[in-house]
Formats: sequence, structure tokens, C-alpha cells
Amino acid sequence: MSTGTFKYVPAGCCYSKFANLSVYWRPANNKSFKQRRINDKTIVYHCHDRDLIIIKESMNNELVIGGDYNLVVFDVFDMRNNHIYEMDYFMSNYMKSSDSDYSFKNTKKNPNITLLSDSGGFQIIEGRTDFIDPVDVAHWYDKNTHAGMVLDIPSSRIREKDILKRTARIQRLNNELMLNVCKKAELINIVHGSSLDNRLYYHEQTKNDKIPRIAIGGMKNYPIHEIIYTTLSIFKEDSSYKQYHILGITRQATLLALAYASLVPGLNITTDSSSHVQTAKSGTYFLHTPKLTQLILNSKSVDSEDWILPCQCPVCSIMKYANVMSKNVSWVTSLYALHNAFVINKFCKYAVECARQGRDTMNHLASLVVSDKTVRRELTKAFDLVDEYLESSTVKSAYAGNRSPILTPMDWGDSNDFTKRVLAALKNMEKYHATQKNKIPSEQRKRNTR
Ligand SMILES: [Zn+2]
Repeated sequence: MSTGTFKYVPAGCCYSKFANLSVYWRPANNKSFKQRRINDKTIVYHCHDRDLIIIKESMNNELVIGGDYNLVVFDVFDMRNNHIYEMDYFMSNYMKSSDSDYSFKNTKKNPNITLLSDSGGFQIIEGRTDFIDPVDVAHWYDKNTHAGMVLDIPSSRIREKDILKRTARIQRLNNELMLNVCKKAELINIVHGSSLDNRLYYHEQTKNDKIPRIAIGGMKNYPIHEIIYTTLSIFKEDSSYKQYHILGITRQATLLALAYASLVPGLNITTDSSSHVQTAKSGTYFLHTPKLTQLILNSKSVDSEDWILPCQCPVCSIMKYANVMSKNVSWVTSLYALHNAFVINKFCKYAVECARQGRDTMNHLASLVVSDKTVRRELTKAFDLVDEYLESSTVKSAYAGNRSPILTPMDWGDSNDFTKRVLAALKNMEKYHATQKNKIPSEQRKRNTR
């Protein structure tokens, strides 16, 4: 069998921010830089060698552009267009996009791109405990995505088995309801748990033959080797999934480990992150050198009108001048985000290339990318685990940690408070399912009462 794969998924691609942004451009010969704001949604730049017109929500914009302009539409949801980003996945979010139905835009018609969606339903970490209807989510998935996350209660921090058992049961019920609705879109099951044992238990409780993809939640702050240990262990337990998605990984070093783990035959790993959007908000512009480094582009840091962006991505090759990207208008943020996603994707592809060349190349890349000694040690352990698995299909017990994640108060809040929120969300969902009994066929229901 050939090796697995590792692909980056830019998350947080919400319709309101990543659709309908048009850039018209034409060659020009301007003596000096000028900008003109036409209206709320339209701005014109006269740069050294080009004129640019940027229009937000261009589909609803009345402006008529003359004949000699070339049009580029930056719209990740337009499947006819988005091969230009060289990405295999995009990920939207039901909670942030459910008011828009973009199925009319050939959303699903590009066979090379998989559109994923997160439910965004239980933002327990942000203090939400209300619920959204899994049936509504499923209808929206079926129209607008190839595969969507099942509606879960993120309980990765919960150590109490009885609570975990209840959240698993709710997810199992949600899965049945959603599967009844989804005719075209697939679902992605999610596993939670505060330890590997709990995760395997959770998987056993929630697995469903009709769900071909799986996601591992709550790993973001774990040491890198623990993430690899968990991923390989779950793969060893059940290697039938076509996708193993690690939810929300932002550290660059972890991307290296995941790229290396994709040498395991049959293990197709993805991970999503919204850092391309988060960083874009502050005008952060990523460079891949091969380490991802950050430039802040603003009127102070960009001292020349002819400062050319050091990147050939679809955004930068049109915008060309840093000066244009340093303008503080909201829609430039979307262009930053697209560029940043492009750079992270390039980095992940590069890491996979290095992994294919072997451990020595990977060690070398790690030495260029990671300077922190603790992180380097984690990464070495992670690489060792993969090597061990490739050799003997076992997950090295020496690194079998089941250790707690490195938690920061910002990520999780107070522990008791978190449990309270999970319990509140649970109660809401349990009440909901008490009224839904008739909608789940009886043989499925029996399984769910155990
Ligand atoms: Zn770029």
C-alpha cells in the first residue's frame, strides 16, 4: 500500500467574508500612488504599473467597469474558480454561514476540492450552552458541503466517565438524525475524551458504519508526541476511515509531525486551523522561509510605494504592492487571509515532501523551523513513534502518556465552570431528544438506550 496523505484545511471560511470579492486590474503607468474610495464597497488604487479596483459583494454592486480591465474573483465558494488556491479543502462553519445558502454557485462541482463544515453548534469554550437543531445542520450540510462535522458536545476535558457516556449518547442520537437527512453530504464523526482510554471508549460508543470520516477533538494543546500517539492509536483501533481529521491545530511544529505521520499507509490526515484569518485581522502577512514568519504590513512598516509583495500566490500576484495590502479597509483582511492560507498550505506540502525523503530530511527541517528545545524534544518523540509504527505497526508504549493537555485559562476557563457548561448543554440536548424519539427508527433507538 502507498503512503497516507496530509492536507491542510483552512477553517473559518465563512460566506460573508470569503465570497464575492472582485478585483479588477489593468496595466498602467502611474507616476505616483493614489487611492480613491468610490463608495462603501469599492476602492480604486492607482499603483506604479497597474490600476486596481476592489469591490466587496460585487454580485450586488451596481458599478460597471470599463472594457480593458481583467477580473479576478476571490471567492473560495465558487468551485469553478478556486483551484487557483492549490488547496484540497476549505472549511466553513454552520453557525456563521447558515444564513447564506451558496449551493447556487456550483459549490460542489469541483471534484478536486472537498468542502468541509464545522457545526459550530456547541461553543462551550466560549460559554454557549444552547443547542442548534441537528436536523437543520444536516439539511444545510447536504446543500452546501461535501462533508460536515456531526453535532457534538465538546467534552474532551471531561474526566467523569458518566458525563462522557451521556455526551456520547447525545452524539449517537444526533448522528442518527443527521444521517436520515444527509443524502449527498457525508458526515465526520468526532471523538472526545480526556485520555486515550476515554477516547477509545467514546469512539466505541459513537461509531457508525455510515460515517466514513473521523475527527479527533480537543488535541490543540497536547504535547506533539501525544497528538501523534493518539492519532496512531485511533488509526490502529479502526483503520477503515478515509479521513482522520485533527481538529484545530495551530502550532507549526505539530504540522511537521502530522506530515511525517502521513507516511503510514492508509492514514489520510487533515487538520484545520483558522490562524490565517485570526492573523489577517492584525495585518499579519505570512512568509514561508521554510519557517513560517510573520510580517506586519501597515503604513509604518511599508515605507515605499513600490514595495513589492514577496509572494506569487493568486492574491499577491494581482495586488503586487505591499502598500495596497497595508490599507486599513475590512475587505483587505479577506485577501490577507487567503494569502496566509496559501502560505500555510505551501508549508504543509513542503513538509510532506520532506517527510517522503525520510527522517534525516525531516530532522533537518525541524532544526530550521523549531528553535524551542522542549518542542524539539516533543517532535523527536513524535517522529520516533511514527518510525516505530512504520516498522512494526505498534504504538510505542514508552510514549504512551494519556497525559493532560497543557491548558491555558484562555482556552478552557475554570474546570468546574467548563463541566457546568457541558452539563447545561447536555440537559438541553437530552430534553430535545426526548421529543424526537419517533424520528429515529426503532432498531436504532434500542441501541441508543443502552
Ligand atoms: Zn501571497
